Amino acid sequence: MQQQPQRPYNTVQTEPYLDAPGLTPVQDTAGESTDGMQRPGRPKVSPRWVERQVTDSSQQPQMLLNANAETLIDVRKLNFFYGSKQALFEVSLPILKNQVTALIGPSGCGKSTFLRTLDRMNDLIPGTRTQGEAIMGGRNIYDKAVDVVELRQMIGMVFQRPNPFPKSIFENVAYGLRIQGKTKGLAEAVERSLIEAALWDEVKDRLNTSALGLSGGQQQRLCIARALAVRPQVLLMDEPCSALDPIATLKIEELITALAKEYTIVIVTHNMQQAARVSQYTGFFLSGRLIEFGPTVEIFEHPGKKETEDYISGRFG
Ligand code: ADP
Repeated sequence: MQQQPQRPYNTVQTEPYLDAPGLTPVQDTAGESTDGMQRPGRPKVSPRWVERQVTDSSQQPQMLLNANAETLIDVRKLNFFYGSKQALFEVSLPILKNQVTALIGPSGCGKSTFLRTLDRMNDLIPGTRTQGEAIMGGRNIYDKAVDVVELRQMIGMVFQRPNPFPKSIFENVAYGLRIQGKTKGLAEAVERSLIEAALWDEVKDRLNTSALGLSGGQQQRLCIARALAVRPQVLLMDEPCSALDPIATLKIEELITALAKEYTIVIVTHNMQQAARVSQYTGFFLSGRLIEFGPTVEIFEHPGKKETEDYISGRFG
């Protein structure tokens, strides 16, 4: 049995559950209201539920979990302020390589703020202040000497609402490469990115038409392709499915699972089913603090803190 490496974070101490013999039976009615409708973001999620939803067993999030994954970004004692208002308090957690980390918690708890600290998007808001460290490749992301343009090429962001530029599909994907001054190999890079974003087959015959003519789900995959074109190491996703229908959402979720083989992904979601479907690790935030961080299945099945349990069982949020 593999032992979890000791981590000095707000980490749930886990049994090496990858070797666990079977999954705990749970009540299937959890999270359903009396009218049979699921309340968005509220259902209790169980591994068995996940097992039912994910048809290809090799794609089950718990199977993709790497208990010994390398730390790509080591966030230590992060405090963040909007003017005099402190939004994050002493947050420490590892962003693990080639794993999907979901950030969950009630609205206003600081999930998006945390995400935006990782590519320093918050720097664009006047009066903000960051304390602490996020070490990536031996450098502190928050160091004033860090070139933020370069940082944002290493750490791409996908937003809640798809935001393609009013340009052709090709030019949207080529955008970052053109900013980098690249003129050669653009067609190949655009094709590769669109294939990675599972969009190529749908757009290969209309690359020169406007991106604004695509459906919402296609636009979001285009934005993912645009982020991937500059070969980032990390993809940050801020509620990337919240503006999409269920079919488009499923496509993005499948894409996230596929992309984690090459990229490290951090996703903010208010939807706990989604967190369970796509992530291997989960961080639960409350009032600007990281309450708990650990393997997703552990967080949902055996939360170490009462606040986490209360949240995932729908007692507040
Ligand atoms: P979440 O993503 O969990 O919903 P946010 O990170 O958006 O939470 O917000 C965390 C806290 O920071 C909230 O109290 C919110 O009102 C505040 N906040 C977010 N953005 C700004 C901003 N641009 N200026 C001032 N306060 C902000």
